[in-house]
Amino acid sequence: MNKFLCIFFVFVGFNSYLCSLIIRQISVKVKEVLSALEQFAPLPLQESWDNAGLQVGLTEAEVSGALLCLDVTEAVVDEAVRKGCNLIVSHHPLLFRGLKTISDLTDVQRTVRKAVREDVCVVSMHTNMDNAQGGVNFKMAEKLGLADVVFMNPRRVGDTECGSGILGTLAEPMAADDFVKLVKRTFDVECALTNQLLRRPVRRVALCGGAGDFLLDEAVASGADAFITGEMHYHQYFGFEQIIQICVIGHYQSEQYTTEIFRDILARQCPGLPTVIAETCTNPILYL
Ligand SMILES: [Zn+2]
Repeated sequence: MNKFLCIFFVFVGFNSYLCSLIIRQISVKVKEVLSALEQFAPLPLQESWDNAGLQVGLTEAEVSGALLCLDVTEAVVDEAVRKGCNLIVSHHPLLFRGLKTISDLTDVQRTVRKAVREDVCVVSMHTNMDNAQGGVNFKMAEKLGLADVVFMNPRRVGDTECGSGILGTLAEPMAADDFVKLVKRTFDVECALTNQLLRRPVRRVALCGGAGDFLLDEAVASGADAFITGEMHYHQYFGFEQIIQICVIGHYQSEQYTTEIFRDILARQCPGLPTVIAETCTNPILYL
């Protein structure tokens, strides 16, 4: 064979090999995304009442891109379509209480219809991601710069250690008002709900994203100076003055960085898969 022809064929062959590598790398199925997320936060870690996992779509579908968000609404499905993503990865499950009708009567029904119509798959990683090592609470701790982060009340599910709240330590003890300012700044909170400011420095911090009010007593028992969560009822604030600095920052605000966990898992486990953190703000609560 002519030498130049030979070089040409080697060149073409090498290029098609490269192309096949690239195609193999970006060809990711929904089931592979699920598997990557579940490897990090296994579904058995979720609470008994929860419904994490696949919500809408086919596990064999090839993923064009993944939109990462906290809640799935019609606007979020629209954003996914606009950005060429046929998969939405959310923290809160779209299907939670179950549907007996899929029509246009509720926002959930309308969102499910739209996702199916637009061929957009939805997977959700909820309390399994709350309870996992490196999950929602660890991300909050990282944002606050806490060190020595451990589960407040660790338990085991199979071989996996997990827990619903965490404890961490600030680099330096802080005055309570400075601590509240740090929390507000970190989570971009316009208005934090606190109890009376602690007259001793804050060093050890307990936290639980979302509705973590059920952990307040455990936070006190753990010796924490402060407890951060997303929401608490009025009566729960009573009786903790000068015992623990309560700091309630809003459900959405407390869990907003969960999308970064999704992004990092998929970058590691599904390299080449386009991921986009949703721009749509789904927080239904306004501070006026
Ligand atoms: Zn939540």
